[in-house]
Amino acid sequence: MQASSHAGRGAARDRPRSRVARHLPVALLCVASALGACSDSAAPSPSLVSRCGDVQERPWCDTRLSARQRTDQLLARMTLQQKIRLMAGEDSADGEATGKSEGIPELGIPTLFMSDGPMGPREGAATAMPAPIALGASFDPDLAGRNAQTIATEVKFKGNDLVHAPAIDVMRNPLGGRVFESYGEDPYLSSRLGTAWVLSAQRQGVMSNVKHYAANTQEGQLGLPPFVSIVGSRFTVDAVVDERTLREIYLPPFEAAVVEGDAASVMCAYNRINGAPACSSEFLLKRVLREDWGFDGFVVSDYIAAMKDTAASARNGTDIEMPNAIFYQPLLLELAVISGQISEATIDERVGNILRTLFRFGFFDRMAYPTDDSQIDEAHHHQLARETAEQGMVLLRNDGVLPLDAARIGSLAVIGAPATQLINGGGSSTVKPRRFKSALEALRERAATVVYDDGSVAARAARIAAAADIAIVFAADGSTEGTDKRCLSLDCAPVDVIGTVYCWMLNGTGSPLCRAPLPNIGQDALIDAVASANPRTIVVLNVAGPVLTPWRDKVAALLVPWYPGQEGGEALTRVLYGDTDPGGRLPVTFPAAELDTPVAGNPLQYPGVLERTEFSEGIFIGYRWYDQHAVTPAFAFGEGESYTRFDFSDLRFEAAGTDALKVRLVVRNSGARPGWAVPQIYLSLPSPAPEIPQPPKALKGFDKRWLAAGEQYVAEVTLNRRAFEYWSVSHGDWRIQPGCYRLLAGPSSRDLPLTRAFEMDENGALQRGDAACPST
Ligand code: BGC
Repeated sequence: MQASSHAGRGAARDRPRSRVARHLPVALLCVASALGACSDSAAPSPSLVSRCGDVQERPWCDTRLSARQRTDQLLARMTLQQKIRLMAGEDSADGEATGKSEGIPELGIPTLFMSDGPMGPREGAATAMPAPIALGASFDPDLAGRNAQTIATEVKFKGNDLVHAPAIDVMRNPLGGRVFESYGEDPYLSSRLGTAWVLSAQRQGVMSNVKHYAANTQEGQLGLPPFVSIVGSRFTVDAVVDERTLREIYLPPFEAAVVEGDAASVMCAYNRINGAPACSSEFLLKRVLREDWGFDGFVVSDYIAAMKDTAASARNGTDIEMPNAIFYQPLLLELAVISGQISEATIDERVGNILRTLFRFGFFDRMAYPTDDSQIDEAHHHQLARETAEQGMVLLRNDGVLPLDAARIGSLAVIGAPATQLINGGGSSTVKPRRFKSALEALRERAATVVYDDGSVAARAARIAAAADIAIVFAADGSTEGTDKRCLSLDCAPVDVIGTVYCWMLNGTGSPLCRAPLPNIGQDALIDAVASANPRTIVVLNVAGPVLTPWRDKVAALLVPWYPGQEGGEALTRVLYGDTDPGGRLPVTFPAAELDTPVAGNPLQYPGVLERTEFSEGIFIGYRWYDQHAVTPAFAFGEGESYTRFDFSDLRFEAAGTDALKVRLVVRNSGARPGWAVPQIYLSLPSPAPEIPQPPKALKGFDKRWLAAGEQYVAEVTLNRRAFEYWSVSHGDWRIQPGCYRLLAGPSSRDLPLTRAFEMDENGALQRGDAACPST
């Protein structure tokens, strides 16, 4: 949820309402030039007339010209005032979109509509997809692409041109309020999923605005969710991060989204980086984004408090301020030009980025997207929401109680209020679901006898559990944009009163779609009591990310569906009963204790002192940190069980051209059921110098596959040059350290039965295999 300007509902939007209404003028102004879809023979050539206008009067509307030529033509005809108008959004209380940038009709510039977000459009009812952390757990870029297709289609048929997604900040601290919106703690995994998401969304004709650039890893403590926190607030905090850590950990997902994914847009973050606000950071916006990565799109600020100045933001590269003009007010920008703080050429550069991208993405040359939900294939989207929930579900413990055997189970005790609720994170990614069936309802449809208890009195719940064949305890955390968790215990949820009240306003007081405004206290004790009463206790965790699981050795099974979206109840039931296999593996490490996490216990690192957060752990976050410091987690990165068994063998590698290595291994389903195999390939790199340490291993590839019982396949991943490189601060560039590299392969970061070593020179050429390197 956002500030009132987002939440407000006011006058109707000035954009087309119905398909029919949209298409009438279109018949006259046949606009589908780029798609060649114009069929009205009376209409002029598509390259001559579009919603952009008549080519004779407006040469920039000529689709035969390049995006750059068209931009130059248009810029040459714009006044300074008109240019400045494009540099800020308009998110007044006019309706449903998350924001818009008003067009200039007299120049044929259409209004640009924007929507959140990573779990679906935040605009009316929509398919509430599982949280991105579940997609992270899926280890499946193809599924990320299909999620993007679903979300982008809905965004489009709600009349929007751009989606503020995906969120590709790498998780630094499991307390972070937006961990559920991320793909977890590994930059490679986040890069693969994020890039697939961007490519697929943009194939639907919706521009992707990747966020939040960069190192936006915390919301802050002592907050009033979802707005603001007092200590280490995202709006003010300065992330002090060395360049190697940025380049190797926090920037790669953005680099991949821009370089491989051709993302149209990048959202600069609320926080500062090394002293400079992200939205006016010369380093981030000029040097890295434009110069190093060749970004050709536009930069949009995060909403309300990300912009912190006028001239520096304009000079260094924020193109659009959202949601309204504060620092990019016409008066301030004009003054900046008049006073010589910025030149008109700078304004041209900013507006040029916007126009060139819009031309390049066909925005001027197509119809405005209709606001028409009837064009959304709801059934297909609901099915994909369920599939995603299943593929992201992580089974962390199973003593054999799962899958449930319907024929042999008499009664189920379902315990805990989350079994009846749609559990989700709060903030701008919140989607109003198109439909919802709770886990309790889904289980009732499946099991003959289900007894439910809300778990508010542990002793009563334990009595009910003792009388049942199987007990399923549902527990949830609380997580929201605007404030971080206070601790990782299940009993430590933030009190998001505003989020709950807002949710009630949308869905009715007491709706199961809304979280109770009070934290869930006593969930650990509840699980403990139920597990003591019934040895066949299954725990289901609806959580944003890592939580503490002090009772883990006591329970028969532990499943993590995260925030599984509107179809989560059905997906969970199907996994519990073995209709499908739990497809998820952990994209984040679950610590054994609160103080075991990488940045715990040092306020300089988190939440920061005097609004300065030092990333002094460097590249050692997530499993890199646990490995380096020999800390045993409760559950490791990449971990997750299947209902079947897999054997891994025959790890091989060979040079693939000059710059890559092809790695293969054989994966065999040696169990009796079909299931998801998720082989993972890690690499341990030689350290160039003591001051440039390398983690014991880093994820470099995975190749997930559904395997029938007895089936096997050759898992294959290609490690490109970047897999072997480190960022050399002294050279200001990527480098390969000559020496021994070790490949490790297996089902999780802490279970890697296969290893092979090889020697590589500084050019990335393979020298010798196993024999050349020490065997440990
Ligand atoms: C969030 C963004 C979101 C924007 C618009 C901001 O507060 O940080 O992720 O896209 O609001 O809702």
